[in-house]
Amino acid sequence: DDIGRNDQLAQWDRDYFMHPSTHLAQHARGEAMGRVIRGASGVHIEDRNGNRLLDAFAGLYCVNVGYGRPEIAEAIAKQAKELAYYHAYVGHGTEAAITLSKMVLERAPDHMSKVYFGLSGSDANETNIKLVWYYNNILGRPEKKKIISRWRGYHGSGLMTGSLTGLPLFHDKFDLPLSPILHTSAPYYYHRDDPDQSEEEFSAQCAAELEELIAREGADTIAAFWAEPMLGTGGIVPPPKGYWEAIQPVLEKHDILLVADEVVTGFGRLGTMFGSEHYGMGPDLITIAKGLTSAYAPLSGSIVSDKMWKVLERGTDENGPIGHGWTYSAHPVGAAAGVANLQLLDDLKLIDNAGTVGAYLNQRLSETFADHPHVGEVRGEGMIAAVEFVEDRDRRKAFDPAKKTCAKIATELLSQGVIARAMPGGDILGFAPPFCLTRENVDEIVDKTAKAVRAAG
Ligand code: PLP
Repeated sequence: DDIGRNDQLAQWDRDYFMHPSTHLAQHARGEAMGRVIRGASGVHIEDRNGNRLLDAFAGLYCVNVGYGRPEIAEAIAKQAKELAYYHAYVGHGTEAAITLSKMVLERAPDHMSKVYFGLSGSDANETNIKLVWYYNNILGRPEKKKIISRWRGYHGSGLMTGSLTGLPLFHDKFDLPLSPILHTSAPYYYHRDDPDQSEEEFSAQCAAELEELIAREGADTIAAFWAEPMLGTGGIVPPPKGYWEAIQPVLEKHDILLVADEVVTGFGRLGTMFGSEHYGMGPDLITIAKGLTSAYAPLSGSIVSDKMWKVLERGTDENGPIGHGWTYSAHPVGAAAGVANLQLLDDLKLIDNAGTVGAYLNQRLSETFADHPHVGEVRGEGMIAAVEFVEDRDRRKAFDPAKKTCAKIATELLSQGVIARAMPGGDILGFAPPFCLTRENVDEIVDKTAKAVRAAG
């Protein structure tokens, strides 16, 4: 029976399963058990105890088209039956991977040239680090290798990508960051030191700090600047006004590449196809993952600009084939999921919906919380939003982290049937629902969040 089966699964889970980003000891003791999810449809997931939950974080902001799409499931099944696997080494391809590369480039900014496919956001960023280093080696600049990312940036949890990530949790006890990675301040206007500073002044200060870091290290040693168009995991923080306008000239002046990590923002999260487009960025590389397949299959990509592509071509003419590839690069089942996913985004105009219903979500959160004595800021863009809780609103003073204020609110909200995410690095409640969200879903999310905040005192 179901209860017996659930008990058995719980036992196996404790005994055998090492989970990512989990308190291992608590889990093994049965104190930090997550839910066992059985199925999902639209914006709802259902666990094995029969609870139906509105997933206002789309898994890990990745199930962008929503759950249970037969179009994607059927494309995956068809591909697996016809051709589950063949590799893409030495120029081999599959119809799915070739078609998807064309679809990605049709959607990418005009100055982009090619796409390399990987499996996860982390490995796509690893690929991009190697491409940046390769590029400078081919250009005869072996010293130009350091990479600057930002505190609160999230770029994965591999060796180099964990180093790029600017969240201490991902560094501590792992000996990260490795030496060629440097961090500069997050463009987190709410936490500025000077309360009277304008957004534009704060952006200019971020650019000046970057300029100083480059001067200190030597521009000849800096290869790239790595950034999400809008900070995601590190707090859901849209850039302050003028930020990208201030940063990009500094990079251009010192011949430093811009890598836009669009793992969260790519394919519609901000209501536009790419975040780069949204903020007027002109990246040399774009990292994509999550929204490429809406997580129906693991697939990521590195989109390479014309400028870099020309040098990569030259490199292989001079040195032979590029020594970089995964067994599962451009996996046909993942690619088939990607093709069906991008088609569905178009057919159902889901990115438009992310823009309009996302604006309604942001508006309702603002109206509901903007004047709350313990809400410091409500912020977002498109179908992503955050509410930051503070102890003292006037002084922008955080709660003692030991109080776990936001985690308690998220737990309370969960008990009412809505999943939001307590983001790392502050009392920040994050929302990033599937793009097929309705206005009625928004009302439910916001009303229940208000109730959860009241209940948490
Ligand atoms: N880059 C960004 C901006 C992300 O948000 C994430 C994951 O959340 C990653 C990279 C890493 O992707 P993955 O978890 O697929 O390795």
